[in-house]
Formats: sequence, C-alpha cells, structure tokens
Amino acid sequence: MNPTPRPDMSANAPSITVDLPTIKVPDHPQWPALSTAEKEALKTEIKTLLKQRNAVLVAHYYTDADLQALAEETGGCVADSLEMARFGAEQEAETLVVCGVRFMGETSKILNPEKQVIMPDLAATCSLDEGCPADQFSAFCDQYPDHTVVVYANTSVEVKARSDWVVTSGIALPIVQHLAERGEKILWAPDRHLGHYVQHISGAEMIFWPGSCVVHEEFKSVALERTRRLHPNAAVLVHPESPQNIVDQADVIGSTTALIKAVKEMKNREFIVATDGGIFYKMQQMAPDKVLIEAPTAGEGATCVSCAHCPWMGMNSLQNLAQVLRSGENAIEIDPAVRERAVKPIQRMLDFAKTHGIGMQNKGNA
Ligand code: SF4
Repeated sequence: MNPTPRPDMSANAPSITVDLPTIKVPDHPQWPALSTAEKEALKTEIKTLLKQRNAVLVAHYYTDADLQALAEETGGCVADSLEMARFGAEQEAETLVVCGVRFMGETSKILNPEKQVIMPDLAATCSLDEGCPADQFSAFCDQYPDHTVVVYANTSVEVKARSDWVVTSGIALPIVQHLAERGEKILWAPDRHLGHYVQHISGAEMIFWPGSCVVHEEFKSVALERTRRLHPNAAVLVHPESPQNIVDQADVIGSTTALIKAVKEMKNREFIVATDGGIFYKMQQMAPDKVLIEAPTAGEGATCVSCAHCPWMGMNSLQNLAQVLRSGENAIEIDPAVRERAVKPIQRMLDFAKTHGIGMQNKGNA
C-alpha cells in the first residue's frame, strides 16, 4: 500500500461566517463494571432476544469491542455507517439494531423504511450533526443557489434532504472531482477538515460549513511529532476529519475502512493511529502481529473527548443494548416526505459508486 499523497493545504478557501450552535459534549458514560459471568449472561440474553425479535445487530467500528464482537458472533456486521445501512438492506431480519450514533440509525431507516430500526440510546449523536442544524443550514444553502450541495453522511435526515449529494469519506473525493470536472461549484458540509482535504486534492471550487468532529480536533501536532520521533518506523494513519497539521504528518489519510486496510497491508510493524480508539478492535483482529499506538491528544485534564473515544459512541453498551431488545423502545421514526427527499442524494452516491466501479464494500465514512 503506497503512502497517501499529502495535499498542499496552505492556500485556504475563503472562510464563511456562520454562528454555530454551542455543542454540549456529554461526559463519557461510566458503565458499571461487569464480572465475566455477568457479561456472559448479558451476551447470552442478547443473542436470545435477537433471535426472538428476528433482529440483526449492526455496529460501528468506534463502538465498544464487546459490541463489535457480539455483532460478528451473531451474524451481524461491524462496519462504517453506509455499509451498516447497506448490510441492513440485504437482511431478511425485520429489525435492525444499530449500535452507533443517531445519524447511522437514520441512514439505516432511510434505506430500509419497511424495517424497524432501534438503537441502544437515541441521545447518542455526533458533533458534526449537532453543529449543522437543518434550518440554519437551509438558510446558508439559500445564499448560494448556484452551488451543488454535498453533505457528509454525519448529518441529520433533514440536512440530507436539503442536499444534492450525500458522501462518505471513502467516496467524497471521486464525487467532488466528478462535479468539479462538470464545472460545478460546491457547498460542502459539515466537516471543514474533510472538506479542505478534498478541495486541495481535487482543486474544486468550494465553500464550507465550518463544522468539525470534537474527537478528531483533539489530536495534537507537536505531540504527534514527538511520538513519531519515538517510533521512527511507525506509519502514521490519519482520518481526514483531523486538523490539517495532523493530516500533514500522515503516511495514509483515509476512511475507517481504508485505515484498517492499511494496517493489514503495510509492511510496517508499528502504526500511530489518529482516529477514534474503538477502531483498534478491528485493526488488531485483522493484523494481530502489528503494534498500534494511539495518536496523542490534549491528554488528561483537557476535555472528555481528549481520550480519542467519542463520548456519543460510548453511549452504546451491552447493558442498554439488552434493555432496548427487551423493551423494543428507541425506534427511529422519519417523516415519509423528508425520507423521500433524503433518499435521493444517498441513492445518487450509490449509483455513482456502481457506475464508476467504486466498491462501496470497503469504503468507509465516519
Ligand atoms: S467520532 Fe466525531 S464524527 Fe464520529 S460520531 Fe463521534 S463526534 Fe461524530
């Protein structure tokens, strides 16, 4: 696997002023520790309930390792958000149990309207989604009627409904390149770091909604330089939601799935990983002989997200998964009219992937 070309991001796009809402980042949930016997009992109960409800478990790479393992053991899947939704569409199960954050449950529901989609905690959201309220975003779009609206998957169903294209980080670049070749100007939302990365590779004319992921923003460049000096043979893997000074130090820049692939395929023994630490479960599973090092964050004493673990992803646990399966609560409901508009830009992306031979199976987002 060749190193990713580093973009020259020195020439920044014109900045747009938007009054972003204040995002309340929750504390990391402190789940009561379970004994081995308690954990096994819960897993057994969850397996039974999945069968009784004709349900399948789909979990994101950033969730707790126990949940990822359980999804795999029960014939579910562990993937990025789009693949989670696509997997759900292929299942005969009547219920999809989505362990992740809310926009993932919504995307599953958009693509599988006839199925019941439930989640362990509907309050598990995402700073990108929270930081892009639909009414404000719609007003922003109205100011640029000549721009094609491209939004990242980490958005609400209403924001998707206002867009022309939905993209994941794995397919954002080819779609933006395609639009740029057609001479289209692009309004990008909500992650500005991913947007700038895509712009500097594609050369597209773009304006940006100034959102960001609170987890990836915490990676610190000076500390990363120090870590690289301590591990000179380590490859640096970076998710493009990270700030520019982190992307600048990357050997590989890519989606969750691309980073997992890099650990498996690159010859290096050590990897410094700048994305949510939940991904280590799958990386270690795919390449047990490799050494994974968390990229440094602001560290102790800073905000709760400085541990490189998304606090919203942390709202998923064995305990509340069992509870939601017992009760059948926390169903995702979407207004059919909004769903009808939101599915179009998602379908456009899927059709583009098919037409251009871009396999979505291994294309990640979030
Ligand atoms: S890691 Fe960042 S982008 Fe992913 S769900 Fe958490 S806040 Fe959102």
